[in-house]
This record gives sequence, structure tokens and C-alpha cells, in this order.
Amino acid sequence: MQDIVIIGAGPVGLACGIQAAKHDLNAVIIEKGTIVNSLVGYPTHMEFFSTAELLEIGGHPFPTLNTKPTRPEALQYYRRVVAREALNLQLYEHVQRVEGADNDFKVITTKGTYLCRKVIVATGFFDIPNALGVPGENLPKVTHYYREPYAYAEQHVAVIGAKNSAAKAALECYHFGAKVSLIHRGDALSEKIKYWIKPDIENRIKEGSITACFNTRVTAIEPGHLLLEGPAGPSKLKNDFVIAMTGYRPDFAFLETLGIDIKDDASCTPVHHAETFETNRQGLYLAGTVCGGLHTSRWFIENGRFHAAQIIRHIKTGTVEPLQLQERYWKTAE
Ligand SMILES: Cc1cc2nc3c(=O)[nH]c(=O)nc-3n(C[C@H](O)[C@H](O)[C@H](O)COP(=O)(O)OP(=O)(O)OC[C@H]3O[C@@H](n4cnc5c(N)ncnc54)[C@H](O)[C@@H]3O)c2cc1C
Repeated sequence: MQDIVIIGAGPVGLACGIQAAKHDLNAVIIEKGTIVNSLVGYPTHMEFFSTAELLEIGGHPFPTLNTKPTRPEALQYYRRVVAREALNLQLYEHVQRVEGADNDFKVITTKGTYLCRKVIVATGFFDIPNALGVPGENLPKVTHYYREPYAYAEQHVAVIGAKNSAAKAALECYHFGAKVSLIHRGDALSEKIKYWIKPDIENRIKEGSITACFNTRVTAIEPGHLLLEGPAGPSKLKNDFVIAMTGYRPDFAFLETLGIDIKDDASCTPVHHAETFETNRQGLYLAGTVCGGLHTSRWFIENGRFHAAQIIRHIKTGTVEPLQLQERYWKTAE
């Protein structure tokens, strides 16, 4: 029997695995994709907003050429940490449900069954995009996962959203020769766009290189057009591709299958103790971004990695201590 089954090999799941080993608990990390699968799906040329040391796990240094790591650097870093720590990972194995009770759980996956005393759910939020809920959303020209601009040269591209991811996608596509429209239901770009991205997108909009459609909703997606509803009423926009940067949400159906209650608040927070991260199902813990529910920017790598120590302390000793977080977050250090 394992001491712990950790579901998800994102940065926080890995941090939990390292912390468990430090306390002589044997843990297996079960991951439906590859190591840090969400990061593998991020835009090819992305740079993290955080500096490298704030993404470190298990005390392993993360040396980078520039202050902000690139995606390939982060992928290589986490892979090397996994190898150095000799973590027990089962990749390409999807956890489907958890039966049993505290100290006697049975974790059922696509490949088998694991018996364990405790379960940590570190499943993030990147697998389920927020749908636009309009006709045509399932056309092949629509994506919720922007990777790189090369397919979009000379094409009419609509980027939906007004936060960092939308701004970055719009800029990259524009700089690679796409005709970009940025469509947003609000009346301005998000206040949260990073200070080093904001002037670029604002100036491209001001000079007309990128067309901004504020206070505008997409009402339907057709093969060659978008139907819009804006301040001047309905309109039709020529369109070849849609990049919908409308955010993501945790897999609530999976959380409910696990017996975790979801709070009836605006964030739909999965119920958990603020310091131990144990859920309403005894012996089953949450870790990382999944803890925030719909509030997906509440927890990220910088602060989520500290969940590991809280959870493992509780599993090992039953004690509870206040969560100690470093103060410098990428969300606030703007
Ligand atoms: C473009 C972008 C830039 C970002 N930049 C930063 C930054 O600069 N600094 C920062 O701190 N954060 C940043 N973030 C946020 C950060 O990447 C996430 O908060 C972080 O990945 C969360 O880690 P996690 O381990 O909680 O979840 P994830 O990394 O999402 O890992 C969850 C894992 O669980 C697996 N999984 C899910 N369900 C199952 C299942 N049923 N069975 C098995 N496996 C399963 C998934 O495949 C995934 O690998 C950024 C995010 C984006 C999108």
C-alpha cells in the first residue's frame, strides 16, 4: 500500500511528491499526460511572469539566462527535478475515481488500481476551457489553446478576451502578419495586463494595426464570418480563425465524483481547510490551483508550491500551522 497517491504531475503535484519523500512517506504521482502537462500546452514562445527562483520546487535551484524563464527552460527544469528526486511517476494514466475511506483508499485509473492511505488532488484547471456558448464554437477554426502565430499569417484572426493571454496572442499574430481583431465584452483592456505588455497592445490598437472591438459579444461563429453584437448593433466580421482566450475552469465533475463539496459562492471553491488543505472527505487533500475553483488566479506556482509542506505535515504529524507564503507574487508585483 502507498502512503499517498498524488493526482497530477504539475509543479504543485511534484512539490508534494518531493515533500512526501523528505518525510519518508512513499508516494506515487499519477498523471494523465506528461510531466508538467499544462506547461507543455502553454504558448510556445511564452516567458513566465515570475522570476526563476519563485518557480523552484524542493529547494532545487533554477538557473536561467534571463530573469524570467522561458517555457522550454521550465519544462527542462521540472523534468530534471523529477529525475534528480527519482519521483515515482505514472504518466499517461488518468485517475477516474477514488473509492474507500481515510487510510484505506482505492484509486482507480485507466490502467489499474492503487491502494493508499491518503490522496492529494493537484489537478489544476487547464483542461477545461470556459466555453463561449455560441453556435459554431466547435468549428475546427476555433481554439481555446493558443500556441504560436505561424499558421495565421495573412489570415483574419479574432482574439477573444482582454487579459494577458489575449494581448500576447493578438500581438504575436499581428507581428506575424495576421489581420487581428481583439473582441471583448468589456469596455477596455484588463487592468491586470503586465506593465511590459500593456503599452505594446495599447499602441497597436491606437495606430489601428490591431482592431479592438470593445463592448462587443460574439453571437455566432460561421465558417467565413463572426456575427457580433456591439454598441452600434449587430455586425458581421470577416474571419478565418478564432483564438478564444476566455479562461479555464477546474474539472468540477471530477471533484464531485471524488466526494468534494463545492461551495455555493462566486468562485465555486472546492471545500478545503485553509491550512491543511484537507477536504470535506477525510484523508483527501487539494493542492495548487484547483483550490481556487473558478478563481483560477488565486493560486499559481509561486504560492501553490507551499501547499506541499502544509499537507505533508498534516499527514505525517496531524498538526496544523499557518501557511507561510513568500510575499513577492507575480500577481501583485506589478
Ligand atoms: C500562459 C500562462 C503563464 C503563467 N505564468 C505563471 C508565472 O509566471 N508564475 C506562476 O506562478 N504561475 C504562472 N501561471 C500559472 C501556473 O502555470 C499554474 O498555476 C500552475 O501550472 C498550477 O500548477 P498545478 O500543479 O496546481 O496545476 P497544473 O500545472 O495544471 O497541473 C495539473 C496536472 O494534473 C493533471 N491531471 C488533471 N486531471 C487528472 C486526472 N484525472 N488524472 C491524472 N492527472 C490529471 C494534468 O494533466 C496536469 O498535468 C501561468 C499560467 C499560464 C496559462
